[in-house]
Amino acid sequence: MVEEASSHAGHRTAAPRVTRRGFALMGLACGLWGALAPMARAAGQIVVSGVRLGGNAQSTRLVLDLGDAPHHQMFNLAEPYRIVFDFPEFDWRVAPEAMPGATGLVKSLRAGLFQPGTFRLVVDLSGPAEIQRTLVLPPQSGFNWRFVADLVPTSREAFMARVAPGSENVRPAKANEPAVTERQRRSAAARPVVVIDPGHGGVDPGAIGVGGVYEKHITLAMAKQLRTLLLKSGRYEVVLTRDRDIFVPLRERVAIARRAKGDLFISLHADSHPNRNTRGLSIYTLSEKSSDREAQLLADKENKADIIAGMDFSEESPEVTGILIDLAQRESMNLSAQFASLAVGELDRKVRTLDNTHRFAGFAVLKAPDIPSVLLEMGYLSNPDEVRLLQQAQYRDRMADSMVHAVDRYFDQTQSAQRP
Ligand SMILES: [Zn+2]
Repeated sequence: MVEEASSHAGHRTAAPRVTRRGFALMGLACGLWGALAPMARAAGQIVVSGVRLGGNAQSTRLVLDLGDAPHHQMFNLAEPYRIVFDFPEFDWRVAPEAMPGATGLVKSLRAGLFQPGTFRLVVDLSGPAEIQRTLVLPPQSGFNWRFVADLVPTSREAFMARVAPGSENVRPAKANEPAVTERQRRSAAARPVVVIDPGHGGVDPGAIGVGGVYEKHITLAMAKQLRTLLLKSGRYEVVLTRDRDIFVPLRERVAIARRAKGDLFISLHADSHPNRNTRGLSIYTLSEKSSDREAQLLADKENKADIIAGMDFSEESPEVTGILIDLAQRESMNLSAQFASLAVGELDRKVRTLDNTHRFAGFAVLKAPDIPSVLLEMGYLSNPDEVRLLQQAQYRDRMADSMVHAVDRYFDQTQSAQRP
């Protein structure tokens, strides 16, 4: 009876009824449901079984099918236009291929764990729009609980007026981190700390490949395999920047590495390319100047992870980037390049690599000034063969094994150089 998000002919006549009842329910949603819901689902997370979009550029409806009434917060973000919904941790059971595509005012939707306790839905807009109403509908007519949000176009001015000045997005500041490198003070006898950074996660899926394969899942699987092999050697301590499907801001990844006093930082990614034939692994180190246009485009793409996840960190200005790179000790830069070339040597024998395998670009995640850092693009999810390989634990083990050899050789070289 209450009509679904769809653009069929009945939509217009059904909508006003929803609206009137909806306003009453909206009051409930903010007050009663918001207050009662946490008790009602104390036993577990709310299951989300469906997400739908319907309507047109004048009015677009978003619907979530849920096992219970959620409370939510929402806010706007600009450049690009986004509306962000934060919910309690959901048990999200919507398959990637079941996510709706561009509809009306909505360009795309992204959903995932944003931080412990917060599940985030990011609505990318084709232009400035506002939420006309949200409703929480109790089960009826064969439907479960539904969360409904109706979007209508608005002016840029009105949209910008609702952009909170960065308040919701910034996590509590961590204690000041020492700017001085800890690595140099440590004895060569201590076990080196290898920080593995599985790219993307939670609300940020990363590249989406053939068959709806998410980069964030490939990177996490590879990170765990690499951790296992490194630990097995008994030579290293290993820290992961995330070990589950959760969003971690780029700066936080760097901060985790620095807090862990990392000796080596390995960020794991997989790319996609409009040309399906493109395939092969590549490895990047930080540079102010990208080695080529493709490298620059890739860095731009990877650096957008925070925007995709609904963070309001505007890109650092070129001046700041320059300063960060100036701060980066020559030694770190050289060591990064040294590790990258060892890794290329090992990987080249085991997996398909791109020409000029070692490349340079300004990745945000490589900007720890005192930790040698590389970013591994394991391959292309847009290539049908490579996406199949990257999904195979056996193939990833082969890459991980090569990386362990490279890590071994790297620390053999650098630790012996440190001995008196
Ligand atoms: Zn990536």
